[in-house]
Amino acid sequence: MKERVHSTQLKQFIGKTAVAAGWVQDIRLMGGLKFLVVKDREGFFQITLPKKAVSAEIFAVPDKLTKESVVRVEGEVKAAVQAAGGYEIIPARLEVVSLAGAPTPLDTSGKIESGLDARLDYRFLDLRNHKSIALFKLRAKMLKYVIDYFEQQGFIGINTPKLTSAGVESGAELFEVNYFGRKACLAQSPQIYKQMMVCAGFEKVYEIGAVYRAEKSQTTRHLTEFTGIDFEMGFIDSFHDPMDVIEGMFRHVIAELNKNCAKELALFNRKPVVPKKIPRLSLDEAKKLLAAQGKKIPDGEDLDPEGERLIAKIVKEKFGEEFVFLTHYPWGKRPFYHMRPVDDPKVTLSFDLVWNGIEVSTGAQREHRYEVLKAQAKEKGLDLDAMKDYANLFKYGAPPHGGAGLGLDRFVECLLELDNIREGILLPRDPIRLTP
Ligand code: ATP
Ligand code: MG
Repeated sequence: MKERVHSTQLKQFIGKTAVAAGWVQDIRLMGGLKFLVVKDREGFFQITLPKKAVSAEIFAVPDKLTKESVVRVEGEVKAAVQAAGGYEIIPARLEVVSLAGAPTPLDTSGKIESGLDARLDYRFLDLRNHKSIALFKLRAKMLKYVIDYFEQQGFIGINTPKLTSAGVESGAELFEVNYFGRKACLAQSPQIYKQMMVCAGFEKVYEIGAVYRAEKSQTTRHLTEFTGIDFEMGFIDSFHDPMDVIEGMFRHVIAELNKNCAKELALFNRKPVVPKKIPRLSLDEAKKLLAAQGKKIPDGEDLDPEGERLIAKIVKEKFGEEFVFLTHYPWGKRPFYHMRPVDDPKVTLSFDLVWNGIEVSTGAQREHRYEVLKAQAKEKGLDLDAMKDYANLFKYGAPPHGGAGLGLDRFVECLLELDNIREGILLPRDPIRLTP
């Protein structure tokens, strides 16, 4: 049997025989001439059936065919057909590999719009178009470039448990699991484990893995299951070190995407700007800039979504950057393990990275001194020693360290300026949706 080729390879077969296969997009019956427009992963091709040039058996095939059926054709390749945007094949053999039911629950050509819910119900049909495939190619490349970057920077990739007894974060966002009659939780962050591995002597670690959050609200940027990109690094001088890493990561990933995936990005009308130097503004400085534009944020509060959008706009005008680090979040808003500056215990050595007005990452220097950490936990009404596995990390040699977490799905949403985070994940999970 001849090897199957993609629509984009047919060019090399003009005047010769080739085998191609895909999903039927369009069926045109015009008396003595019939056409099938077929889609494969890379593009389209057309099967042309002139009554005089093909067998009676083959000529009859389109009559019983439905859109989205899978067909396989072998025949001579003719020059490009403009209408179908691909090459033309005159079939010597034409096989209906899988006949699709009709009508399909969704229009896959993108000509008839369906609501997001209907699309997600039949996600495999919703994705059966070149723009969706481009999106997920981009997503896979982003992940590759993220991993390349961490590897180049000397980080060690780790995989930590997602079934846990409890985290160090508050319990509100935890999904409980019945673990052989015991109560377990799905990890809402690899926080404990990445710090553990720094203390284990790995020094610099990163993890790409599932993160679970029982976020009740239905928003355009929250999922209950998402892919986290987390890293943690030891022997840092300050919380600027993890910010430098994130900055380097975005610079690398965006430059690689612009270099290697311009065609896919163009489908989304995006040419993301490679950050030069991401401004680092303390929350107080940001609030002053916002106040000057009439937006007041109370003391001890962080920015609301509107504030984040406005600060992004100001930064873009002032610094020409799509990104901004906001630093020194109030102690009241951050977990007990974020380090505080000696001279200002009201704030933390923490940061958020905001991209075009949306938070994509949060990080901090962690408190690594057992006594200080214990006191900080107490201030928040927590007992460090009750979190035995966490407390132990700081008793037997813990270097100063810090890190951050970001969501890949949020990253895709911002990169492609999607209306909804659900567009950029294959099968979203949210408070309502648990299928398919
Ligand atoms: P947000 O304020 O947007 O709810 P967060 O501050 O609660 O996020 P973090 O704990 O800081 O979230 O998580 C680190 C990163 O993980 C976020 O900056 C974001 O990129 C991503 N992230 C957090 N929660 C979600 C979620 N529910 N769905 C998708 N991505 C998320
Ligand atoms: Mg955050």
